[in-house]
Amino acid sequence: AMAKSPEVKLAVFGRAGVGKSALVVRFLTRRFIWEYDPTLESTYRHQANIDDEVVTMEILDTAGQEDIQQKEGHMRWGDGFILVYDITDRGSFEEVAPIRTLLEEVKKPKNVPLVLVANKSDLEHIRQVSTEEGERLASEMACAFYECSACADASGGVAEAFHELCREVRRRKAVQ
Ligand code: GDP
Ligand code: MG
Repeated sequence: AMAKSPEVKLAVFGRAGVGKSALVVRFLTRRFIWEYDPTLESTYRHQANIDDEVVTMEILDTAGQEDIQQKEGHMRWGDGFILVYDITDRGSFEEVAPIRTLLEEVKKPKNVPLVLVANKSDLEHIRQVSTEEGERLASEMACAFYECSACADASGGVAEAFHELCREVRRRKAVQ
């Protein structure tokens, strides 16, 4: 029998256009949909079997253009965070560290469960951020790193990123 565990609240952050909605929809439906309203903010509930446990997730797909108060509100709400950038948009990569800094401030004194996701790996020909740069940033933030593609996710890297974040949240809860 599988144990039932409490809900895990996950929020997805990153500059508008990096593919947050596409990643969430890929994770939830295993499909890719080309266009979403970029101003839309949505929450989803999802259950997954992770390491023989049923985990219920609430996932907040932020719009990526919130003001600071809204951002802080989302940060207080969440247990774990997916920070997304687009490998073809260096500016989106540069926005990750400030988001992380704000997270650390809002969640103080806890250290915050997060994963770093480099999206749009299918667009290798217009890449602006190398895999090594992503790995370095993840190691500075002491978090897992996934380079993946919401539209061509053959290896299931998108789901792996969400699952790893759930594990990380649950590990931290266990030691508190
Ligand atoms: P959001 O603003 O972060 O939610 O970004 P969206 O999910 O709305 O995606 C922004 C644009 O990038 C849309 O045109 C998507 O079709 C496109 N997109 C998202 N993920 C990928 C991907 O992995 N590869 C490619 N080529 N395009 C993507
Ligand atoms: Mg969106």
